Amino acid sequence: MEVAVMAGKCPKCEQIVSRLSIKPLLGQGPSGQHKSITLNCPACDTILGAQVDPSAAKSDLVAEIRKLREA
Ligand SMILES: [Zn+2]
Repeated sequence: MEVAVMAGKCPKCEQIVSRLSIKPLLGQGPSGQHKSITLNCPACDTILGAQVDPSAAKSDLVAEIRKLREA
């Protein structure tokens, strides 16, 4: 079975975006700093999206659970 990939266009350079360039940065929120990532156009580096780094969020969660189990 073949899955059709619906690639979108970058709003700035209008290239078809078939992959994202992921870059780390620090997010600052009311509960402190969070490792985050931006999802960039690989052609012109425009930020297309941003979110908390899911792998950093996962390791933070694991560390919290470990702390609770040791308490
Ligand atoms: Zn672009």
